[in-house]
Amino acid sequence: MVEVVLTTDRTMMSNHHHKEFLGFGTTGPVMLVPEKFWLFLFAPKMKVIDKDGRPLEAPYGLRKIEAKLIDDGFDAAIIDPDHLHKHAKTAKVLLLSHHDYFGFGPPSSTFASIFKRETVNARSFARLMESPAIREMKKRGVKIIAGGPAAWHWKYRRDKMKKWGIDCVVEGEGERVVGELVNMALKGEKLPEFYTVKPSNSPSVDEISDIKLPSVNGIVEVMRGCPRGCKFCSVTLRPLRYYPYEKIEREILVNVKHGVRDGIIHSEDVLLYGAGRPSYIIPNEEKLIKLHKLFKKHYRRIVWAHASIAAIVKGQRDTKLMDKLAEIILDDNQSWWGAEIGVETGSPRLAKIIMPQKAKPFDTEEWPELVIEAAGIMEDVGMQPAMTLIAGLPEEREEDVIKTLELVDELWDFKAIIMPMFFVPMGLLNNEKWFEAYNLSDVHIELLKRCLTHGIRQGKNILKRYFEDRWYGPLLMPIYRSFIDIIEWQARKRNYISEPGSHKGKKFRKSQTCDPEYVDWDKMCR
Ligand code: SF4
Repeated sequence: MVEVVLTTDRTMMSNHHHKEFLGFGTTGPVMLVPEKFWLFLFAPKMKVIDKDGRPLEAPYGLRKIEAKLIDDGFDAAIIDPDHLHKHAKTAKVLLLSHHDYFGFGPPSSTFASIFKRETVNARSFARLMESPAIREMKKRGVKIIAGGPAAWHWKYRRDKMKKWGIDCVVEGEGERVVGELVNMALKGEKLPEFYTVKPSNSPSVDEISDIKLPSVNGIVEVMRGCPRGCKFCSVTLRPLRYYPYEKIEREILVNVKHGVRDGIIHSEDVLLYGAGRPSYIIPNEEKLIKLHKLFKKHYRRIVWAHASIAAIVKGQRDTKLMDKLAEIILDDNQSWWGAEIGVETGSPRLAKIIMPQKAKPFDTEEWPELVIEAAGIMEDVGMQPAMTLIAGLPEEREEDVIKTLELVDELWDFKAIIMPMFFVPMGLLNNEKWFEAYNLSDVHIELLKRCLTHGIRQGKNILKRYFEDRWYGPLLMPIYRSFIDIIEWQARKRNYISEPGSHKGKKFRKSQTCDPEYVDWDKMCR
């Protein structure tokens, strides 16, 4: 039996039909179909590999902590949430991790505010915490430690900490501290309620353990940190570390050995892997080519976790880097690849305030033109990204949102999903106010509608090749296609369709009047 159990809820413990992007479906509230069917669409159950309930694939961050504990000599294992009951009477410490415990993350809080309903991920996590297995553990005095990227949520939910018996919340990279905290828990010592790992206490590459079992969708990290310093981002403060090829290959092989043959290259900006002094923002072609060849040597298909507009343009302008990488990535196994790309705004004025380094080495004044150029490059090389926008940044003005609308119009024919998200106070802006969704102005509503219309249009295009690598693709495709059709039908019925240029000449009201119930709901979301 396992002494130190690590787990998370179903929306995280899933490979989302081998399509990471489908995981975004769990950041919305259930609509139009029963919740069980929604979970089947966006977060199907994970296979387990033994009678204890170890999942075949598990979230990468949780795998890293599991590996560290195993390397430190603990009897630790990740257990699928459906198998937790097998450990209810024996586990001594329970570790939780999540990207979005309460649905406060940017996509979830946006969807929750718009639809005035709790998101699937928040509901699923609450169900996990109310499960008989966790109640039984708590009754026996098992200590619970929560961490992961969404650890900060607990500061807004002290009531839930108390209700569910969370003993300690760890914020930041956990490698250097998790062993000590678990030791304290095993000895029954009192744990600090909140423990923040300072960036200066981030682990070195040598202190980061290799995963022992596969990660969800074969994700393998190649570096940590990001040099761009955007004010709204929590990664900003962490040091930059590149993993050597040998370390990366060992983790790829862990996945391959267990039959996970496709993977995600994880970095906040894949194109900055190996970028050198002084700025760390100029793509290093030699290292990137070697990195991609390494991944494609073992994996059939690869995608990127994140990449930046500026690095795409810089690499392509200087050395046709994107063409060269496409030559490595695209083959008989894949005809496209994806990445999440932060666009955030179409306004150079606002970009200069919130993300002054994001366009570097180019001038931030050129930001919208760079985004359009990068879209053209991505289209040419076969990339289909998810692009994010942030609405409601603290210093945003109506003219900024109009510039963003115009940028979306410029991207109208680009095969991408553009996701607008409300500002969430994180990173250097963590003392700012949350964006109050009940204060949505008309121009924000126009932006949401425009992105929805773009998404419906391009979603249908993207879907055509989305499951090209799966034998069951032809079975799943009609389901997702019907889903998009239903969204379109509803959007038309509610007048949510917004065509390019339709904002021109309109007068926008500052904020909507809304019923007090909505205000209460929106406040509760935060
Ligand atoms: S480029 Fe991305 S990861 Fe880097 S600081 Fe900006 S938002 Fe964060």
